[in-house]
Amino acid sequence: MSELAYPYEAPASQALFDRAAAVTPGGVNSPVRAFRAVGGTPRFMVSGTGPYLTDADGREYVDLVCSWGPMILGHSHPGVIAAVQDAVSRGMSFGTPGEGEVALAEEMVARVAPLEQVRLVSSGTEATMSAIRLARGFTQRTKVIKFAGCYHGHVDSLLAAAGSGVATFALPDTPGVTGAQAGDTIVLPYNDLDAVREAFRAHPGEVACVITEASPGNMGVVPPAEGFNQGLKDICAENGALYVSDEVMTGFRTSRAGWFGIDGVVPDLMTFGKVMGGGFPAAAFGGRADVMAHLAPAGPVYQAGTLSGNPVATAAGLAQLRLLDDAAYAKVDAVSKEIQGLVSGALTKEGVAHRLQTASNMFSVFFTDRPVRNYEDAKTQESFRFTAFFHSLLADGVYLPPSSFESWFVSTAHDERAVQKIADALPAAARAAAEATA
Ligand code: PLP
Repeated sequence: MSELAYPYEAPASQALFDRAAAVTPGGVNSPVRAFRAVGGTPRFMVSGTGPYLTDADGREYVDLVCSWGPMILGHSHPGVIAAVQDAVSRGMSFGTPGEGEVALAEEMVARVAPLEQVRLVSSGTEATMSAIRLARGFTQRTKVIKFAGCYHGHVDSLLAAAGSGVATFALPDTPGVTGAQAGDTIVLPYNDLDAVREAFRAHPGEVACVITEASPGNMGVVPPAEGFNQGLKDICAENGALYVSDEVMTGFRTSRAGWFGIDGVVPDLMTFGKVMGGGFPAAAFGGRADVMAHLAPAGPVYQAGTLSGNPVATAAGLAQLRLLDDAAYAKVDAVSKEIQGLVSGALTKEGVAHRLQTASNMFSVFFTDRPVRNYEDAKTQESFRFTAFFHSLLADGVYLPPSSFESWFVSTAHDERAVQKIADALPAAARAAAEATA
């Protein structure tokens, strides 16, 4: 039995967590959900509508996680539900090609100029894993450069110094990853082009690709410095390596063309997930047609999936993307700005040192007074203040990511009432952060 460490713990969630712990390692199917970074009982959610989630104890929360990004139209959007119901009424999975996957690929290609061809998969992890394999197959090279604090899913070779849950739990290099896999990964500090040039000098003709989050959100929000992504692209081009932009988090969230729509740097390969699945398991990788031509059955690099292009998932993703017009992005951006202002205002009022960092409508708060440009900077934050802030908001019905190394997400459904609920909860949370001790 876990202890009831907080007076406002939810007994129904706790009972479910105890049941879960008996049959699932740590009681969860993805580590950060377990609340270990902040303590207390993870809330087991039973329903979501618009900007709200309701837990097993019947308590309602304004959701600032949005399923870690996908739910950009809010929960249970009627347009997405109708598309899913229509698709599911015709069958769940055929294991054959279908029109829905073609339509989703067409929508993506139409929105993101560098995306000449896409291959659909079921998770962001599969997307980055497959993109790396393709980059290696295409270049006939083995090494991959990644950046500390960037998370690209739980791909063996990409777990070194990863963000997200790996950062939250301060895990060292993960057991189960072989020395060979780790040895083919070169981990560099983020936002440091000199380090990238040096790595290419040290490994001439060996680097298949550089993979980077288009704008990192997995060590908290740490946007690329001016010219960083273009610099990566140029260094890759000079050295015959591919520039792989991971847009699993930013894709179709930060603009209608994702982060590419903001910085315009043209990647060789890109990866997508989250928003493009409309809350279902759909993800993708794609890019230059000449590179994608190396993928089976067109080319020799093998990649496949029983549920790839699943008709229900693609229907959800397509419906969501079609609803995401300019007005929708303007709305998400505006509500994000409003909440950012409220959060920063409340913390400033209580004299809490903090940095609110943004990447379009993605944002997060670091409890530090210094700018955060990379993972080393991110680790200097006073996470104990986040813990107090988090629990105070949770008690008052605002659901934040349960870790200070994660982006916060909003949706088009975050309306005046939801924003007011956040505004009402913030003064006490800021006070709790101010009074927290390590
Ligand atoms: N890449 C990035 C940038 C991500 O943020 C994530 C997940 O958070 C992934 C890849 C992995 O995606 P998934 O969790 O769907 O495997």
